[in-house]
Amino acid sequence: MTTGESEIQPGVGTFSPAVEDYLEQILRLINEKGYARAVDIAAALNISQASVTNMIKRLDVEGLLKHEKYRGMVLTETGEEIAKSITQRHQILTDFLTLFGLDDDLINRDVEGMEHHISAPTLKVIQELTLRLKSAPEHVQSVKEALKRDGI
Ligand code: CA
Repeated sequence: MTTGESEIQPGVGTFSPAVEDYLEQILRLINEKGYARAVDIAAALNISQASVTNMIKRLDVEGLLKHEKYRGMVLTETGEEIAKSITQRHQILTDFLTLFGLDDDLINRDVEGMEHHISAPTLKVIQELTLRLKSAPEHVQSVKEALKRDGI
């Protein structure tokens, strides 16, 4: 390997939040329906189909997805790795915030932002905390009471 050359390492900050969200939705659609179409991605992300078409071209050029005869759009290994990572981050953060009885829309909005910026160590902390809090409901309760006390 020559100096300055580096392998693509999917992780926080490697790809834009938009790219991560597209890959996340494409994987979800493929898992749920067996295929991902531009029209479904546009609906899921609430953006125009023209934008989706442009982004799909970009993801293709960047080697994150490809088109296969009969199967349509599929993620490459790297694309799938990123999609799985963002899906996992989304789930861990949602599990944590759901403990405290926060509003679902609020949780979703916060998680949509946080999932693109959280580092692996911080995510691990939250995952471990969630596990421990699930077996210590008194701590969850005291946090809920603090929220209530502060009128949040
Ligand atoms: Ca997302």
